[in-house]
Amino acid sequence: MALVETRDQAAPRLLAHALHSQIAMHQAYGGVVPELASRDHIRRVLPLTAQVMREAGHVLADIDVVAYTRGPGLAGALLVGAGVACALGAALGKPVLGVHHLEGHLLSPFLSADPPEFPFVALLVSGGHTQLMRVDGVGQYQLLGETIDDAAGEAFDKSAKLMGLGYPGGPALAKLAEQGDPAAFKLPRPLLHSGDLDFSFAGLKTAVLTQSQRLRQVSDEEFEARKADLAASTQAAIVDVLVKKSLAALETTGLKRLVVAGGVGANKALRAQLNAACANPRRRGGVVRVHYPELHLCTDNGAMIALAAAMRLQSGQQRALPAASFEVKPRWPLDAITVATA
Ligand code: ATP
Ligand code: FE
Repeated sequence: MALVETRDQAAPRLLAHALHSQIAMHQAYGGVVPELASRDHIRRVLPLTAQVMREAGHVLADIDVVAYTRGPGLAGALLVGAGVACALGAALGKPVLGVHHLEGHLLSPFLSADPPEFPFVALLVSGGHTQLMRVDGVGQYQLLGETIDDAAGEAFDKSAKLMGLGYPGGPALAKLAEQGDPAAFKLPRPLLHSGDLDFSFAGLKTAVLTQSQRLRQVSDEEFEARKADLAASTQAAIVDVLVKKSLAALETTGLKRLVVAGGVGANKALRAQLNAACANPRRRGGVVRVHYPELHLCTDNGAMIALAAAMRLQSGQQRALPAASFEVKPRWPLDAITVATA
């Protein structure tokens, strides 16, 4: 939940934002339970709205446009957000705007202290997506490549689960990896030399499973002793592929700017390796500027959705419309919104 302010063409300013994490609730089940997620959305949405308005020093009547996530995502959770946003818009007599969840991730670095400029290559690495995009402006997204199976975040989460690290596994695996040797296990880097910009992480998960089983067969102590090495090697395999393919996308497009977005963008090893590679003047293609969202805005948040709505309106591509009937789009490819939908 968030409130942003726009003045003419100046960059939108975040006035306040609040987030209720559902991680603790889902932890007991080892993953997201859709029905619990939407019920908890219902419980949280009004208190969070009140909190944001209070923190921003505004009242509901000050709102000009109400934005919500239209998709993609879990239908139940989307419907709660869309229903509340449209009801609020109708009650206030203000227009509403449905936003693409991935556009929110993609534009989130514009809220950082070091915002990017268009055009850029975007590496979108989240729990459900791994994509490289050419971004020429708001709404101008060209898909360059994407995962053909698991997403990078999913690879982190599933590997972590196999290693008994709980949910969500990404941050836990990254933390354990800090104490391990990234070269200890040779793990596959699928499609690394495929010549295209696609990714594949399903094979990595299988390799982690095999290695875990081998270690456990020796003994539980052996598994515990080598777990950090396995975590570090897993992270290295994922990061390696993400970095190489991002550099390839920069070379293919000739662009000098890279934007990283989505939950895996919080990963320290990924940031360190991207920064080092992109700062290297001897690299083919030369030095590249890399931009990230603030750490707390890498995973899902309301600020990025409010920002994406504000930037869409500023770009003049889309108008907010009076709240009437609404629909959500649980499946919705980002490059399908290139053409204005208003
Ligand atoms: P999508 O945006 O594709 O619909 P999502 O909203 O579930 O998916 P995000 O909230 O962007 O995904 O990111 C969550 C993912 O990021 C999880 O898979 C999580 O493990 C991963 N993640 C978060 N922090 C880290 C980290 N430090 N290292 C690695 N992975 C991380
Ligand atoms: Fe997300």
